[in-house]
Amino acid sequence: MNLILFGPPGAGKGTQAKFLVEKLNSFQVSTGDMLREEIKKDTEIGKKIINNMNDGKFVQDEIVNKLLEKIIFDSNKKNKLIFDGYPRTINQAKNLEILLNKSNQKIDYIFFLNVKKDTIIKRIERRKILEKRSDDDSNTILKRYDIYMHETKPVLDFYASKKGFYEVDGSLNIEQITNKIDDILKL
Ligand code: AMP
Repeated sequence: MNLILFGPPGAGKGTQAKFLVEKLNSFQVSTGDMLREEIKKDTEIGKKIINNMNDGKFVQDEIVNKLLEKIIFDSNKKNKLIFDGYPRTINQAKNLEILLNKSNQKIDYIFFLNVKKDTIIKRIERRKILEKRSDDDSNTILKRYDIYMHETKPVLDFYASKKGFYEVDGSLNIEQITNKIDDILKL
């Protein structure tokens, strides 16, 4: 089973992804984590993306799409993918369809964790203290939210009519969201 966790920054995608990885014996595909790792290791990619990441802007599709390709064609991970933070643009959603088709896979479930702006801001400010992420400061949070509304929200239309699409109230607490997802997946 492959599934997408979709929603604004701070919706709880990463948290729920980690639970699902355990329960489904799957792999979390967090493009944000992959990109942060490139920066940490100071790779060529890391050098190219550091400014965009710190400013809360998207990393270029070509870079993210390439990182993703490796994972989709990894036979150990086939049909065990939990996408968290990808796709974020229509171009990425189309790219994902193409790669999944080529590798004989599909998306079985899409969970849209819907959360309002003020809740997100409070959550991300808390996360800043816990995780010390350089893109979690107040100005960058607002920028990331605006980019989400302009670039990523339209991707919802792409998925909303598809089989397996579910909207979950992302303002619930972690356990309540987990229970909703588990009910749908019959876990
Ligand atoms: P995240 O950890 O998912 O909140 O992502 C943190 C940052 O990584 C984003 O603000 C972007 O700068 C970058 N990023 C992560 N995933 C993507 C993606 N799919 N496309 C473009 N940029 C991304």
